[in-house]
Amino acid sequence: MLQVNSVTKRFGGVIANSDVSFTVDEGQIVGLIGPNGAGKSTMFNMISSIFPPTEGSILFCGAKIDKLPSYKVAPLGVSRTFQNLQVFKSMTVIENVMVGQHMRTKQNVAGFASMLLGITKNERKVYEEAMEVLQFFHLESVFDQKASSLSLGKLRLLEFARAYATRPKLLLLDEIAAGLNHSETSEMSALIKKVRDTGVTVLVVEHDMDLVMSICDKLIVLDQGIKIAEGTPREIQADEAVITAYLGAEVEEEAI
Ligand code: ADP
Ligand code: MG
Repeated sequence: MLQVNSVTKRFGGVIANSDVSFTVDEGQIVGLIGPNGAGKSTMFNMISSIFPPTEGSILFCGAKIDKLPSYKVAPLGVSRTFQNLQVFKSMTVIENVMVGQHMRTKQNVAGFASMLLGITKNERKVYEEAMEVLQFFHLESVFDQKASSLSLGKLRLLEFARAYATRPKLLLLDEIAAGLNHSETSEMSALIKKVRDTGVTVLVVEHDMDLVMSICDKLIVLDQGIKIAEGTPREIQADEAVITAYLGAEVEEEAI
């Protein structure tokens, strides 16, 4: 489904990604891991066409997407969440999800505005679909609350719900469990699997190793922009280079 071929990204003198290649098969949950500054978010930004690679190519379902503007990539079926949440704080929870659906149904702005007023039959349908998405993410009880009133845990669920509401083929989740407590993280793991089971392929960037190791079919490890390993969670946990660059450091942090 996704092919990243020898991708390099330079920002002036900084090499954020250096000759990185990997693939994601349909139906997989793949984890992209590595220390801060490894180039994970930069890779997500290129897959979602926020900016192009300096070198290399990215193919989605066989089509080259690395030179397309992001508004043309989203309708192909690529959706994402952002590490620094992108929910609309002044809108309600359900309105945020309806914005996601709106991207899919491609109604114009006037249509969207009247949809929010909730009058016609079609608008009713959009509202009901949004409610179903909220139920899926356990957010139905806060559907009419302003996003600004939500806890971090619920905000992360809303960011996830909004990206899912576009009905993507490929969903990129950037640190979706950051700052969550143990039970919220477990809930997030279960939801990621539930989303995959609805037919969505998932690429996750995540520091929580319990989450990554328990849900991913395959892991790709970046360090200072370079891919240092790729394999199953079991293989990665035993990989010397990964332990030195990343997992070892994490164990030390936990000990402190
Ligand atoms: P990660 O998500 O793995 O923590 P990033 O992809 O955010 O890492 O960053 C990788 C490197 O690229 C860092 O050195 C960062 O400062 C740099 N970088 C990322 N985005 C930009 C940008 N838009 N402009 C300049 N440098 C950037
Ligand atoms: Mg990042």
